[in-house]
Formats: sequence, C-alpha cells, structure tokens
Amino acid sequence: MSLTVAIVGRPNVGKSTLFNRLVGKRLALVDDRPGVTRDRREGDAQLGHLQFSIIDTAGLEEAKADSLEARMRAQTEAAIADADVLLFMVDARSGLTPTDRVFADLVRRAGKHTILVANKSEGRQGEAGFMEAFGLGLGEPVPISAEHGEGMADLFRALREVF
Ligand code: GDP
Ligand code: MG
Repeated sequence: MSLTVAIVGRPNVGKSTLFNRLVGKRLALVDDRPGVTRDRREGDAQLGHLQFSIIDTAGLEEAKADSLEARMRAQTEAAIADADVLLFMVDARSGLTPTDRVFADLVRRAGKHTILVANKSEGRQGEAGFMEAFGLGLGEPVPISAEHGEGMADLFRALREVF
C-alpha cells in the first residue's frame, strides 16, 4: 500500500515545482471533477527508493476573487483529509505571511504527520525565512530548492522516517 503525501501551502511558494520534480513523467491523473478538487493534481512520486502518491493543490487562478479564499481553503482541507503525510511548504525568501499562518493552522489542526519545507533556499538567500519558519511550531524546517533540486536528500531523510 502506497502512502499519500499532500503538498500544502499558500500560492507561489513552489508546490507545483516540487510536485513536478517528484513526479517527473509519472503523472497518473489530472483530476477534473467539478468542485473544490477540480484543479488538484495527483501523481506517482519517487524520491530515492521511496514511492508514494502525491497531491498538489493548485489552479486558483481560475477562481473568482470573492471565492478565492474559501475555495483555496476547501481544496486544501480536502487534500489534507486524503493524505497520510503533509508537506507544508513556505517560501524561505519572502519570509512568512499572514496567509502562511492560516495554512499552518489548518495543517496543525489536522494532526497528521507534517514535514515543514522551506523552499527557495538555494544559495543562502533563504536563511532568514528558514529561521522564521521554526516559529510555526511544526518542527524543524527542511531547506530545499524545488527549482534547483537542492535539499532532496534531506527531504528524503524526513520522509523515510514516516514510511
Ligand atoms: P505554487 O503556487 O505553490 O504551486 O508555486 P509554483 O511551483 O508555481 O512556483 C511559484 C514561483 O516560484 C515560480 O516562479 C517558480 O519558478 C518559483 N520557484 C519554485 N521553486 C523555487 C525555488 O526553489 N527557488 C526559487 N528561487 N524559485 C522557485
Ligand atoms: Mg501550483
């Protein structure tokens, strides 16, 4: 039985970039059911020898402005409910925003095994955001660069503990 991992976080932190990296060409399914899960993408991911299902929460561009927050929340809650493990992603370069804290509360309330990921940590430019992320109370952040493929061994180690 394969575990399901959901990548959760506010828009623009790099969720889809990580999803694409982990799934590569193994995209299993683009979910186009109507409603809150319409834009959700699922795939078969591989990191080292670990294989798992992965959910990306995405596609908020199409939402009407007044429904954006409600829809974002509903989609994220659905993904959280379906997942065994959560990758909660923040942007280490921009630092934390109020929206990050809204998502962090959702994640915390879910009570699922959560790995805090500080993305955009290539070079040393994410150090301030990395340290700020400790304050979320979601454990030690794992610094990665989804775009440049850095930190994947650390992400592997964090996931391996759960599997
Ligand atoms: P999402 O909205 O959370 O799915 O974020 P995306 O994956 O669409 O990425 C948002 C933006 O951040 C894009 O311009 C990406 O190229 C950029 N991005 C993603 N990962 C990284 C990273 O590791 N480093 C940097 N500098 N930019 C990144
Ligand atoms: Mg996305």
